[in-house]
Parts: sequence; C-alpha cells; structure tokens
Amino acid sequence: MKRKPAAASGARSSRKSARPAKAVRRRESRADLERRSAEILKRLKTEYPNAHCELDYRTPYELLVATILSAQCTDARVNLVTPEFFRRWPTPRALAQAHEMEVQDVIRSTGFFRNKTRSLLGMAAGLMERHEGDVPADMTELRALPGVGRKTANVVLGNAFGINDGVTVDTHVQRLSARLRLSTRLGPDKVEQDLMALIPREDWTLISHLLIWHGRRICIARKPKCPECVVNDICPSARL
Ligand code: SF4
Repeated sequence: MKRKPAAASGARSSRKSARPAKAVRRRESRADLERRSAEILKRLKTEYPNAHCELDYRTPYELLVATILSAQCTDARVNLVTPEFFRRWPTPRALAQAHEMEVQDVIRSTGFFRNKTRSLLGMAAGLMERHEGDVPADMTELRALPGVGRKTANVVLGNAFGINDGVTVDTHVQRLSARLRLSTRLGPDKVEQDLMALIPREDWTLISHLLIWHGRRICIARKPKCPECVVNDICPSARL
C-alpha cells in the first residue's frame, strides 16, 4: 500500500524554556533517564501521530528493495526510482533473472549503484533458492541475504511484518540519540542496544520513525531548531 507522508503535525509548536531542566544538567540517574526517555517518546508521539516509513512500498519484497536502495541516499530519491524498478522487476523471480547492466541503469541515481545491483541480484537469488521467492519474517534469515544488514532487516521486520525485533538506527537516529543523551555510545549497534533497553518493545519500530521525523524537520544536523522543539526543556543539547 502506497502511503503518503502526512504533513508534520504541529512541528512548529514552541516551548520557550530558558535552558535545559536541572535534571539533565547534573549527572542523570538511570531512573531519571528512563523517566525522561518516556517523556520524550510521549511528546514525539503527540507531535508526529502519523510518523511512518517514508519509503513507498506495497509488499515486503518492495520494502526490502527500497531499503537496500536507501543506503547513502534519500528516501525521496529512492521513491523516484522504485516505480520503474517494480514495473520491470515486480517479483524476486523477475529480479533474479534481470540483466546486471539494466538494473545498474535504473538505480544509477541512488548512488553506489554497482554494489547495490550486486546486493539486489544476490538478494533475489537468495529468496528464490532458500525461500521460494518469499521474504522471510526472521532476522537471521534476512541477514543471510546479500546486502541485508541488521538495519535493513529491522526496517523490513518492523514495517512490513509488524515485528519489533530491534530498533532501526540510521544517521538521524544516531544523531538524535546522542543529542538527547539516550545513548552516549558510538556505533549503530551500541546505540540500538541502548534504545532497546530504554524504550518499550512495542515502540521499537515507532521510536525510529519518530526520531527520523524529528531529525528531518526540527533537530536538523547542521542547525537544530531548538526554540521550536517540543523536547527542548528536557534535552541536554538544547541551544535556546
Ligand atoms: S532540536 Fe535542539 S532541543 Fe530539540 S532534540 Fe535537537 S538539540 Fe535537543
């Protein structure tokens, strides 16, 4: 089902605290961190009630392809390429028989197109050989496919199958987790472990969407819009 991104709801609401709360200026206890992360989750849910994966897809196969294409590329660019991709190769069976050069031509604008083509063809061959053309709803089986790492598997499991097996950690999630001090460690695997320990399992897929939406609209990499941010009074990195 192709879903349209909803307008950012109320992303410009303003909270005019003079500076971050005392609780986040001193060393924070685990209990305080858990309370603060619950409050962040609650406020972001209210701010972005329609947060969802912004890649266009209709089936697990389409989401798997789109997620592989989204590496080092914007979702908007991927969404421009996938309609033609799925017209030519609508199933894993069709993709497994595709010509490498033709796939490269179609996905060229997403960058790293040679590596991505190898991953896509290998992934399709793996689905045909081991899963009769179906995308497995299993982390281990997904990660055994070429080009599929933990991040891609989390996206597919969480969004196509509704399985909260982990938290998708992309560049936005890493940046916001650090700024909000939900994780002080480096690397997507460690950030994911910290978020999984803080956020209820039923919200693992959603927290990723919420942080990505907030990162794209407010907590922008170069110049975060802290005065407009709904969590600025409980964010240790707020610049007000
Ligand atoms: S926009 Fe500012 S206040 Fe909001 S999360 Fe980012 S750094 Fe913190």
